Amino acid sequence: MAIYSYPSMPDPCKVLEFDKEKCVGCNICVNSCPLDVMIPNFIKGAEPIVLFAEECWFCGSCVQECPAGALTLIPPALQRISTVWKRKATGEEFRMGMLNPPAPNLNPPAGNRK
Ligand code: SF4
Ligand code: SF4
Repeated sequence: MAIYSYPSMPDPCKVLEFDKEKCVGCNICVNSCPLDVMIPNFIKGAEPIVLFAEECWFCGSCVQECPAGALTLIPPALQRISTVWKRKATGEEFRMGMLNPPAPNLNPPAGNRK
């Protein structure tokens, strides 16, 4: 009996973007995921298959562990508003809990508050 696995296709559930040029198929991201969202690709060297996108916690482990920088997390819109922000000048994106966060904003609050 043959058993098949298919990736989660609908775009609203798309949680990860793989850069196919950079990915070497090492599967470190698969093994770093606490929720087993991905499985290794049956094609050797190809990017993993996202099988259970709706299970993703958006913890970012897979992105941080990827040695090739081939993974981008796509948080849902609500999380993007509250936990991901961008530096206007450079376009850099920041996320709560990230490694090496930027220096804190030491500017005084606007509006003459004490
Ligand atoms: S963000 Fe976390 S839960 Fe989601 S696929 Fe990556 S490691 Fe798994
Ligand atoms: S850790 Fe990075 S390079 Fe390795 S399989 Fe995952 S996305 Fe590809």
